[in-house]
Amino acid sequence: MARINRNYLKLPGSYLFSTIARKVREYGEAHPDADIIRLGIGDVTQPLAPAVIKALHAAVDEMGTAEGFRGYAPDLGYEFLRSVIAEKDFKARGCDISADEIFVSDGAKSDCGNIQEIFGTNNRIAVCDPVYPVYVDSNVMAGRTGEYDSNTERFADVIYMPCLEENGFVPELPKELPDLIYLCFPNNPTGAVITKSRLQEWVDYARKNDAVILYDAAYEAFIDDASAGSEDPVPHSIYECEGAKDCAIEFRSFSKTAGFTGLRLGYTVVPKELMTGGEKLWPLWARRHGTKFNGAPYIVQRAGEAVYGEEGRAQIREQIAYYKENARIILEGLKKAGYEVSGGIHAPYIWLKTPDEMTSWDFFDLLLDRYNIVGTPGSGFGPHGEHYFRLTAFGSRGNTIRAVERISK
Ligand code: PLP
Repeated sequence: MARINRNYLKLPGSYLFSTIARKVREYGEAHPDADIIRLGIGDVTQPLAPAVIKALHAAVDEMGTAEGFRGYAPDLGYEFLRSVIAEKDFKARGCDISADEIFVSDGAKSDCGNIQEIFGTNNRIAVCDPVYPVYVDSNVMAGRTGEYDSNTERFADVIYMPCLEENGFVPELPKELPDLIYLCFPNNPTGAVITKSRLQEWVDYARKNDAVILYDAAYEAFIDDASAGSEDPVPHSIYECEGAKDCAIEFRSFSKTAGFTGLRLGYTVVPKELMTGGEKLWPLWARRHGTKFNGAPYIVQRAGEAVYGEEGRAQIREQIAYYKENARIILEGLKKAGYEVSGGIHAPYIWLKTPDEMTSWDFFDLLLDRYNIVGTPGSGFGPHGEHYFRLTAFGSRGNTIRAVERISK
């Protein structure tokens, strides 16, 4: 008899976004004339940049010729993409990362979810609360989290690091020692960022305690470089911190940087010298990647390369500026309307405190019923997200302005 992986049965409830989709569908069916504005799910809406489209067309044409046809891509990604990533995302920022430390993939979700496979099941993980659900759920599936307690909404063996207003939504170093630490900055869902000196504290802590930091920088492109000249800037990469190559893996995505949510492209950096328990991690991830992943499509990797070209870079900057202006409109508009809001400066997410201690789901229902606006209840990201609500800057400008006007009224 085949047996299932019973760890899957420990996963609580239905997925946050399926619940939201169901509620919105039911509301739409009951109110067919409602003009619903969706600022919930974190998906982009702007079309791909012209330079990306040009590169896609060119690569498609190449694939139709005998000389240009490509089959399986190299497991770790094409050299043309890995070297431009190393140059532009890392060396240009003073980070000593080389092309062969970059593993190209179909996106950061897969990498964040899969990375735990190279670690033993007896590792203790630490996560922010609230948190992007993939980190915890993938560890639940692997049997690393213990049992779920529906009263506390926590897994017994996970170290939760509260991200609260009091700590600026940046967690404190945990007193209980974790083996694997998931950090994500700029943060989903709170939109918070970490400064270089605070991140350095995490790197020092990880090195001192032989922990590995799994650093998700999927929203790095939203960092406002106005902070670059300041004494304590917001880092784009954890490798800007001293010693990070000894203790950190970093995830990057083209999804929010360049609108690739539908194209699919990302990468993971595993430094060659990174070791734990006397073993190097690079060969393990190379082996895992080679065994279970057959490479991102050639045409998509060419599109990714175009993001780093002069034309592509300028166009992508414009796209990000568009979303950042949406974020500013939401942030300023809601502040003016008397809401307590944070995030939205170096991130496409605005984290809003619900009025009058309303629960996140009550506020969701209120926004949908009264203003026909869809957001994401903070409690869906963890117990410390309760009484908070996430709005995204990924809508169109018109919808963003209309949404803020409706809420302000
Ligand atoms: N990491 C975080 C924090 C995210 O919010 C998301 C997407 O919403 C991802 C990773 C997934 O990125 P990708 O589209 O590259 O899989």
